[in-house]
Amino acid sequence: MYKIPLSKPDITEKEKRAVLGVLNSTKLALGPKLQEFEKLMAQFAGVKYAVAVNSGTSGLHLIIRALGITKGDEVITTPFSFIASSNCILFEGAKPIFSDIDENTFNIDVDKIEEKITDKTKAILAVDVFSQPADWDELKKIAKKHKLFLIEDSAEALGSEYLPPHQSAKSRYGSGGKGKKCGSLGDAGVFAFYPNKQITTGEGGVILTNNKKIADLCKSMANQGRKIENGKWLEHIRLGYNYRLDEMSCALGIVQMKRIKQILKKREKVAQFYNKKLKVINGLDIPYIKPGNKISWFVYVVKLAENFAGKKRDKIIKEMTDIGIQCSDYFQTIHLQPFYKKDFLYKEGDFPIAENISKRTLALPFYNNLSEKEINFVVENLKEIISNV
Ligand SMILES: *Cc1c(COP(=O)(O)O)cnc(C)c1O
Repeated sequence: MYKIPLSKPDITEKEKRAVLGVLNSTKLALGPKLQEFEKLMAQFAGVKYAVAVNSGTSGLHLIIRALGITKGDEVITTPFSFIASSNCILFEGAKPIFSDIDENTFNIDVDKIEEKITDKTKAILAVDVFSQPADWDELKKIAKKHKLFLIEDSAEALGSEYLPPHQSAKSRYGSGGKGKKCGSLGDAGVFAFYPNKQITTGEGGVILTNNKKIADLCKSMANQGRKIENGKWLEHIRLGYNYRLDEMSCALGIVQMKRIKQILKKREKVAQFYNKKLKVINGLDIPYIKPGNKISWFVYVVKLAENFAGKKRDKIIKEMTDIGIQCSDYFQTIHLQPFYKKDFLYKEGDFPIAENISKRTLALPFYNNLSEKEINFVVENLKEIISNV
């Protein structure tokens, strides 16, 4: 057991009662909680349709299928993300085409995308990495110019907001609540609810879109290819999956969403306290926030100076972990994952910025109820370890 884990779900008595309420009912799947949860998620993201599914990964897979992306197609995406954002492309036999990232936002570098576009390119899949909204204004321009679909992996960015540059120039601080919600910025997007995300349903995810055709296809495919209305239980009009989210999970998600403002406030407070303590320490940069962006703080990741990259960073993680402070090296680049190297012949040096950042990032313990005392303990130990590594 860690004294201070990397993440910790925040489950209240009210949430436990909501789950028990479902268990005491007779409807454990495809019931009223699913409908209510989907409605809440669509409202929150500011989109017309939400389709709840059993994971963020399932949601990404259904979006790829709903857009008809298939064998022979290419999708441009980032090598600096959780592997699911690229695997979902492989699920349908299409090819992820990686494009390097921006060294400050850690998001896909919009200036490098166009050179990757070929006549096989069908979509751009951008990720709001560590809750930082990608450059959606530019992404939209590129997608429109080349007639590509735009997919938003917002699994880490529930509650983040994006303001286009021409609007954010006017606002002094972040989006000031005037931004568009992440998850709503492409043709379709996803949130994910694994226990380390901003809200959790145990396992779970949701697809968000303003496009009825995409929503209907996803809803049908998540439920074994059934008709979405008035169909017979054993009639299947297309290939589908069982990607349904059960009523217990939805009940948990509903109560979490009802206090989402409080949750985001708690995360903001923890992040600001970390910022205050860490900005005076040599050898690291606190998280960068691009003007116009509001961050919902999935994780708290610092960027170590170049001279701590790689082995020294790993040693810092090990020493922190040894004293009970769980830290992590989010993310290993996707193209250097063993099976990507083997199957697609990627090698070191292919995406130098992503690789460099990946050797320098350090994720510190981060969750809603992390106390100032605990943060001080983390920071004091980090300071000590960095100065001796
Ligand atoms: C968490 C995450 C996912 C996948 O979500 P699951 O619910 O675990 O399947 C996808 N993309 C990114 C960037 C994530 O962080």
